[in-house]
Amino acid sequence: MKVAVYPGSFDPITNGHLDVLKRAASLFNIVYIAVARNLQKSTMFTTEERLEMIRGCTTQYENVRLDSFDGLVVDYARQVGAEVIIRGLRALSDFDYEFQMALMNRHLEKKIDTVFLMPHEDYTFLSSSVVRELVKFGGDISGFVPTNVEAALLKKIRR
Ligand code: ADP
Repeated sequence: MKVAVYPGSFDPITNGHLDVLKRAASLFNIVYIAVARNLQKSTMFTTEERLEMIRGCTTQYENVRLDSFDGLVVDYARQVGAEVIIRGLRALSDFDYEFQMALMNRHLEKKIDTVFLMPHEDYTFLSSSVVRELVKFGGDISGFVPTNVEAALLKKIRR
């Protein structure tokens, strides 16, 4: 039984994250999407809102579980019995940070490896922060996020 954790801020989840999730779900028996609670950065959406948006666009995956976590990813991975951390790699610019994190996590727990998955090239320029900026300035985000997330973003900026 191979269990993986896909951790992140998911503020909000985008089609790029979903592309990585789809690949991970086909490779592992169970994939936990784990929303980080204790972020240094302030988020547009609360943890509950981020989870709700993910729930709304991942129901087709029987082997994907939703959760949130505090503290170290490796501690959370151990708790759920995962041996793999999934991360998406869009471009070389992601590499430095991800490489450092992956080695630090392996230093903390040698049984846990990080697996990097490359999204479809259509999503290499896509990030949650770009989506948040676009929606604030009235840009069309429909190709970048699922419809339930688009609705949540529009509702949030109208408040
Ligand atoms: P974090 O704040 O931990 O980087 P994110 O929610 O921004 O969390 O991203 C979580 C993971 O998803 C990271 O590995 C990130 O590289 C990856 N990711 C983000 N956007 C995309 C995308 N468009 N395509 C593929 N992977 C992505």
